[in-house]
Amino acid sequence: MNERILIVEDNPQNMKVVLVALRPYGYTFLQATDGEEALDMATRERPDLIIMDIQLPKLNGLEVTRKLRDTVAFSHIPIIAITAFAMKGDKERAIEAGCDVYLTKPINTRQLPVMIAEILLQRQKINSSTNGDGNGEQDPGN
Ligand code: MN
Repeated sequence: MNERILIVEDNPQNMKVVLVALRPYGYTFLQATDGEEALDMATRERPDLIIMDIQLPKLNGLEVTRKLRDTVAFSHIPIIAITAFAMKGDKERAIEAGCDVYLTKPINTRQLPVMIAEILLQRQKINSSTNGDGNGEQDPGN
């Protein structure tokens, strides 16, 4: 598969935790350490999935998510929000901003890879069914 995952995290230790947890699965990783870099990198690289820390310098993770969701190309890319400070209403705000999944730190390093694999698999099924639905639009076959 070699899906590309953008990890947005300003804390080097947390970045490392995510990288180590996902390393065995053969993904390609992109990394951003603040909100502006995340926005630039996502726009340029079009990753298959984004892991988004909420508390970030410059733009926070919710602002980045909202900006991405405003763009058609990013309306469906899976975004997993991760926050260190879970407070009442945070989950609702994250979902409202356009995040698909909301997790709280510390990151569950067993759960995260399973969740990502499931999301990517589901995405693949959706993509293959929209390409083969017999509406006359042929996939160019790349
Ligand atoms: Mn942070």
